[in-house]
Amino acid sequence: MRIVHLSAEFFPVSTVGGLAEVVSGLANGFAEEENVEVIIPKYSFIELKEARKSCFDDIEVFKIKIKKVDLTLIDSLKVDYFKRKKIYGYKDDEDRFIYFSNISLQYLLNKGEEIDILHLHDWHTSLSAALYKDIFKKKGLKIKKIVLTIHNVKYQGECSYKKLNKIKIEGKKYIFKKKFFLRKVNLLACGVFYSDKIVAVSPTYSKEILTKKQGYGLQNAFLENRNKLTGILNGIDISKWDPMNDPFIRYHFSNHDDIKKIFDNKRLNKQLLQKKLKMKINNKPLISFVGRLVPQKGPALVIEALKQTFKCNGQFIILGSSTIKSIQRRFKRLKRRFKLNKDVSINFLYDEELSHLIYAASDFMVIPSLFEPCGLVQMISFRYGTIPIAREIGGLKDTVFDEKNGFTFKKFSKRELRKVIKKSINFWEDHHKLDKMIKNMINENHSWDQVKVKYFDLYKNLLF
Ligand code: ADP
Repeated sequence: MRIVHLSAEFFPVSTVGGLAEVVSGLANGFAEEENVEVIIPKYSFIELKEARKSCFDDIEVFKIKIKKVDLTLIDSLKVDYFKRKKIYGYKDDEDRFIYFSNISLQYLLNKGEEIDILHLHDWHTSLSAALYKDIFKKKGLKIKKIVLTIHNVKYQGECSYKKLNKIKIEGKKYIFKKKFFLRKVNLLACGVFYSDKIVAVSPTYSKEILTKKQGYGLQNAFLENRNKLTGILNGIDISKWDPMNDPFIRYHFSNHDDIKKIFDNKRLNKQLLQKKLKMKINNKPLISFVGRLVPQKGPALVIEALKQTFKCNGQFIILGSSTIKSIQRRFKRLKRRFKLNKDVSINFLYDEELSHLIYAASDFMVIPSLFEPCGLVQMISFRYGTIPIAREIGGLKDTVFDEKNGFTFKKFSKRELRKVIKKSINFWEDHHKLDKMIKNMINENHSWDQVKVKYFDLYKNLLF
């Protein structure tokens, strides 16, 4: 099977969040048995030492192998769309990814080989579905089926049709006027209408996006294409997230160890982390939050969790970064307020190593999301014997079950959150119950092998 992914991110060369890990996990999962290529933009921050370089028209193509995956990076010689320091966050983001969606197909057409599955990810590349069926197919590009995986419906790439005209595409055609959008082109919607299959990143999320609340304006587009829509949970890289061989942590453990060893080593890791973050060294219950500080992750509830943990005589760590000024200010105020408190540590940065230490040392991980398409944090927490305290939403609802492998709460409310934190801390003191829960969690399997089987069936059903 010849599978080509088009994506804005790919771990480890260009990564902002979950998307990079998912594309990498999926591509690597299939690369051993199938012929897999991933195409991403060549951002200027990606250093390529051993890449093979070629050019056609005004396009530069770099090729490298990462593990077993053929990675192709594309840049323009004419416009500076990818000669940027970051992946996103520019005024012309839509122009950049419209351009990328187009030149990726141009590259595949030039290459001239037949593709079984073109796999698109999120709004950045979803336009390619429409461009293939309306333009590139007629030019001779051969793609059997197109799959679109939606990682987050909130980001859709809405823009003026004139942006398409810029690259000589008849923009007005993609307004879907009679359908739901007036005057604007919605790039994600192009993928929804033109792909052969749409995958949301969890079964619950595939239902939630049909509603007004979670569809962010695309609910009717999804309802109309419901027969193409399904949900598949993401996985995690279990070799990267492996408490037995994790190079960032000192005291290792695994699901084969007895529960006492797991507790003892987690406690030793906790002491090291407390020292590193200049916290009080004790064995109070430690609750942490790791994630982007954006509205999706429920920043107000993260703050509430911190206050409640403090009230219940626990410790709290935040590791988060945010591009939103008002949220940054709120957390800076919080940090000032708890400045002298050595049971609290607030860290504003993206730090992979520190995240590993936090997963390995914490007793709980709070995930109070407003919405959560899939979520990786709870799956990583399971691996490290860290109990998730999660809201019953999206992928969290599909993976965390109250009092079995974590604690859950339904409503996005401070009151419910306070209650569940209190309940969790009380539970933590009951060793018999706790042992059972940790055993359940640490034996969870969210590896890519599991996910691969589901995607393989999906590909097969489409093709044969
Ligand atoms: P999203 O993709 O919405 O950000 P996910 O739960 O799917 O959320 O994935 C988040 C990933 O990013 C996890 O692996 C988490 O450990 C990591 N992460 C998030 N914020 C940070 C941070 N500040 N430092 C280190 N890792 C982080």
